[in-house]
Amino acid sequence: MTEKTPPALNSVVVLKQEISPRYMILRVASDGWPLPDFIPGQFAVLGLPGSTPRYILSTPEPYPPGPNELVRRAYSIASSSKINEYMDFYVGLVSSGSLTPRLFSLKVGDHLWLGPKISGMFTLDQVAEGKNVVMIATGTGLAPYISIMTSELTCGSPRRFAVLHGAYHSWDLGYRSELLALQHLCKNFTYLATIDRPEDEPVPWPGYIGWVQDLWKKDVIAKAWGIHPTPGDTDVFLCGNPAMIDEMVGILSKEGYCEHTHKNPGQIHIERY
Ligand SMILES: Cc1cc2nc3c(=O)[nH]c(=O)nc-3n(C[C@H](O)[C@H](O)[C@H](O)COP(=O)(O)OP(=O)(O)OC[C@H]3O[C@@H](n4cnc5c(N)ncnc54)[C@H](O)[C@@H]3O)c2cc1C
Repeated sequence: MTEKTPPALNSVVVLKQEISPRYMILRVASDGWPLPDFIPGQFAVLGLPGSTPRYILSTPEPYPPGPNELVRRAYSIASSSKINEYMDFYVGLVSSGSLTPRLFSLKVGDHLWLGPKISGMFTLDQVAEGKNVVMIATGTGLAPYISIMTSELTCGSPRRFAVLHGAYHSWDLGYRSELLALQHLCKNFTYLATIDRPEDEPVPWPGYIGWVQDLWKKDVIAKAWGIHPTPGDTDVFLCGNPAMIDEMVGILSKEGYCEHTHKNPGQIHIERY
């Protein structure tokens, strides 16, 4: 049997920011080719050969890839579409996964594969002009919202934005300081975070406790905006854990929201990780 040719690793890690041992922001620059344009909310594909070492905190993978096999997965672009120097990805470690333990072992200067094709319709251009936008995420499901907020938020515009983020611990809430600062600067932006393991916190957590879908049930948006969001004035984006998405779709459907598809425009936009 002939060996597969090793893939050309066309990109380079230029920054690795460890948020916690299980979350990181990976900044990737292209190695001598122009990065593609994208619409905030879209995703790219990252890849590494099976020969890449696995991260120390990982566990064995059930089906190890061949050394020259390119392991590829989709990742939402977290950086602004106004920046074409690099792309940021907010990545969570799946201990027994195939790609994330290899991504976590990378260092600045290491090469990886970045697919030149950008995809996805989890974007604001699917939302009618002037409507408010509530963006709900668990974990790294925050990534597309960071791109949207840093590319498309116009401070002081009549359109309101809210980001609702859920994680286990406060230290898993990536981009928290940026989002708190944005909330301070932009009256039309609301940021609410919730954690569900408060007993692990080194100091008492001052924010919400529970799952992110509980925030919607507690009507926190109405408290922040002074109006209860309805399908007529607000679209809702859901990204991350499939269980959170399923529960939110159930809650929103009872309030009259419908899932958005190519054929049937609706007010619920979904990206399942
Ligand atoms: C459109 C799209 C965008 C995505 N964007 C991001 C992103 O911005 N950041 C990010 O970290 N991931 C993102 N993902 C998930 C990503 O593509 C991988 O599935 C994930 O990183 C796990 O890859 P892996 O090879 O390490 O694990 P795999 O070997 O693929 O999976 C191992 C097992 O872990 C489960 N699993 C997969 N993802 C997760 C998860 N996030 N948490 C817990 N268990 C999981 C799988 O169901 C499987 O059973 C996105 C997925 C899609 C479809």
